[in-house]
Amino acid sequence: MDSTYDTNNIFAKILAGEAPCIKVYEDNLTLAFMDIMPQTDGHVLVIPKERAVTIYDLSVEAAQACMLTVQKVGKAVERAMGVTGSTIFQHNGRSAGQTVGHFHFHVLPGPLSGLKGH
Ligand code: 5GP
Repeated sequence: MDSTYDTNNIFAKILAGEAPCIKVYEDNLTLAFMDIMPQTDGHVLVIPKERAVTIYDLSVEAAQACMLTVQKVGKAVERAMGVTGSTIFQHNGRSAGQTVGHFHFHVLPGPLSGLKGH
């Protein structure tokens, strides 16, 4: 996966309303929804509406908006799951583990040690 945006990726389809998602937050620049294969209960993804593959492709405006949405959603997820901490990460490029070619933050309640596979 390079920085060439594939308009057929699944998150593009979600943004276009062509694929379903369980939406938890939306504003003009971002969308947050439940991960379809959660690594722990309450696993949410935050994406920009802008077309960007990796963090290096984001505009300043989209980067700022994603971070603000992560702050809102992260705290909400902590409250909803009754925990006082959260884990936030993202991958850039297939070799780093990125499987969907539209930029996304993973937001999970609790510690990394609580995640499946860790
Ligand atoms: P990555 O490995 O690219 O960092 O993370 C991609 C994430 O997208 C994975 O956690 C995966 O479960 C999630 N995912 C893949 N396809 C879908 C989908 O169709 N809907 C939702 N809600 N999440 C998806």
